[in-house]
Amino acid sequence: METILFLAHPEGDGRLARATLEALAATKALSESLNASEWSVGLVGENVQEAANSIAGCGTGRVIGVSGGEFAQSRYASDAAAVQAIVAEVKPTLILAPSTSRWSRVMPGLAHRLGGTCDTHVAGISSDANGPSVCRWYYRQRIQARVRRKQRPWFILLDPGCQPAIECAAGQAKVVPVSANLQGPSRTEVRGVQTPAATAQTIRPDAKLLFVTGAGWTKKQADGQTHVPEAERIILEFVNRSHASLGSSKSLVDLSGEGQAVLSFLSHLNQVGQTGSTPRHPKGLATCCHGEEPHTVGWRFIGERRAISLDPNCGWARGKADVVYVADAFAVMRRVNELLAEAESREAS
Ligand SMILES: Cc1cc2nc3c(=O)[nH]c(=O)nc-3n(C[C@H](O)[C@H](O)[C@H](O)COP(=O)(O)OP(=O)(O)OC[C@H]3O[C@@H](n4cnc5c(N)ncnc54)[C@H](O)[C@@H]3O)c2cc1C
Repeated sequence: METILFLAHPEGDGRLARATLEALAATKALSESLNASEWSVGLVGENVQEAANSIAGCGTGRVIGVSGGEFAQSRYASDAAAVQAIVAEVKPTLILAPSTSRWSRVMPGLAHRLGGTCDTHVAGISSDANGPSVCRWYYRQRIQARVRRKQRPWFILLDPGCQPAIECAAGQAKVVPVSANLQGPSRTEVRGVQTPAATAQTIRPDAKLLFVTGAGWTKKQADGQTHVPEAERIILEFVNRSHASLGSSKSLVDLSGEGQAVLSFLSHLNQVGQTGSTPRHPKGLATCCHGEEPHTVGWRFIGERRAISLDPNCGWARGKADVVYVADAFAVMRRVNELLAEAESREAS
């Protein structure tokens, strides 16, 4: 018989994130399919009562909480101590949690410390006569495997977006407090959080279009000069007008490390490809990008592919795109922006 523990941490506003509610739905379904005698919830945060109340109608067993100022921020030492205290109280065999950056940082190390095992990036969990198993993608989402493990406790981090979020009534939950054994003063002090401005949020998984920028945007153009500030303006204007998601080649996001002129709003999170992401959008448009295999492999799930490149012999032209425009992307995108602006003003009037 498995004993299940679900772990969660409230966000800054005291509520549970969508990814947490999705993982909670998966945990509840697993518990029902395993006929587990009890599934408990462990909460870690500055104050966990509001989060506990929000899931009071989910039919959980015990709710255990580790709370206090030292648990407000994500920190390996304090989070590990908090989870260890909850695990000691519940003695679970299966520990499920959402793949938040906070839990992803702490769970594998903690599993090792407790003599257990950990699977990250789990896309689904189910059970049959042989017990629970998790579903994971391997080799950059080319192979899907189902994994069973004998080792316990088994920590399982569930990726967001793989199941619907649970909907349950709020109520007044009873939280059993446990205290974590914090050994000595913490060496990590969280002084604040730096986040990009809302307008700089260019990764939009739900967008209909993926707009990819390549290193060509920062290269010398026909006049022998680079035009990085103009490239920034054109790209941001297009992304904001079209609500496209912004992707990039590796060469472009790597340029900052080489001290070259870069597009300030790009980070490695925008990188598409073998060592980047594999986004899913109905359409994709690559600009100033050569279309080499390590990049285009990240386009596996893009429905219709188009590219604008000066090079008629680029990778896109060799069968990787449905349509290739052999043209200057600066000129094309400038004109596209004009057309979008005209369409917007027509709609407004
Ligand atoms: C192990 C490994 C893993 C890798 N993983 C990745 C990965 O995950 N993602 C990734 O992207 N790459 C990856 N790469 C790198 C990849 O092989 C390429 O080097 C990279 O994608 C090239 O980037 P790019 O096309 O932007 O730049 P470039 O190759 O420099 O191409 C720039 C293009 O812009 C065009 N251009 C210039 N000016 C204009 C203009 N005005 N209008 C139109 N076109 C113009 C040029 O003709 C040229 O074709 C990996 C490489 C290795 C070895």
